[in-house]
Amino acid sequence: MSTPTELARTHVPRLHAYTPGFQPTGSDWVKLNTNESPYPPSPKVAEAITQSVTDDGASLRLYPSPTSAPLRAQIAELHGLAADQVIIGNGSDDILNLLVRVFGGPETPTGFTLPSYSLYPVLVAIQDGGTATIDFDRSMILPVEQIANSDAQAFFLTSPNAPTGVGFTNESIEQILQSFSGLLVVDEAYAPFAEENAITLLGRYPNLVVVRTLSKAHALAGLRVGYALASAETIGLLDRVRDSYNVNKLSQVAAGAALGDSVYYDAVIARIKKTRDRWLAAWREQGWFIYDSAANFIFVEPRDAQGLIGSEVAASLFEYFKTRRILVRSFPNHALTAPFLRISVGTDDEMLAVDQAIQAWLKHDP
Ligand code: PMP
Repeated sequence: MSTPTELARTHVPRLHAYTPGFQPTGSDWVKLNTNESPYPPSPKVAEAITQSVTDDGASLRLYPSPTSAPLRAQIAELHGLAADQVIIGNGSDDILNLLVRVFGGPETPTGFTLPSYSLYPVLVAIQDGGTATIDFDRSMILPVEQIANSDAQAFFLTSPNAPTGVGFTNESIEQILQSFSGLLVVDEAYAPFAEENAITLLGRYPNLVVVRTLSKAHALAGLRVGYALASAETIGLLDRVRDSYNVNKLSQVAAGAALGDSVYYDAVIARIKKTRDRWLAAWREQGWFIYDSAANFIFVEPRDAQGLIGSEVAASLFEYFKTRRILVRSFPNHALTAPFLRISVGTDDEMLAVDQAIQAWLKHDP
């Protein structure tokens, strides 16, 4: 008799599941490891959920809109697009997965840069797909020509990039679009914190897909809502491989309420950017190298009291933060990211706690 492992498709036992950032159970952590918003969602979100649950009892008894139709229409209007150019996902990870399902396979490589969002290779591996990777160098300048010449069927570009925070200009994205023959997926999870975004390019480039999430700027990571904007033809393909009820009713309602309250979110985003810019400048002042950030996190290369940098120095500060109940993220698996730590932008109090820990670490020189 065969074991389940022997019965599985041969690539599956070799897969490694994505490792998400640690989600602690206690509330006494300063949790700056997964780029969530430090501020609550708009109060309109809780109102909309409560109303949806209490309405007439029908709300949860019945299935949600399978296509999230009202939310598609709302998002289309928000971005000046047609409703058939929008698809909603159970988080943007769901959208990324649909894209890989449609475009990635053993003979149709999927492209992405190194470093970038580390979920992409995991999704590609699930489809037993090929990859076409392009390496950044330490400058983190976008290798426009290499991407444009890539033989990837779909190329995932994270902009602003993760974990560096570096945003790319529409000019460089347009340069790629002008000569790349595949589909360019711009993953804009952090674009609400950036100066530019690629949505304005959608009208001119049918091979562009823009992916957004409500997990970061909209403070709804717990509800799992993301979306893609693209040509109606691309959206039609994604809909063919989507789970029939992929977004639950409460998430659809909550996302609609959040996207309807831009006044609230504009203020929250402005605040996060101000906090980001303040600490980025302060830590640079003490001699640390930090990439410009167009996101809600800061990617710092810690320098210890002896002036040393490197992966061991970063690991030392990471561990020291933990002793103070501060969680940040390290990326030890790539030479360009190992000497760095990624610190999500928190509240002013949280950032003060981070800074105090850094100053103590520098003094104690552990
Ligand atoms: N893209 C990037 C670049 C991210 O960093 C994240 C968050 N880990 C996501 C997509 C996924 O976000 P979500 O599934 O919560 O929408």
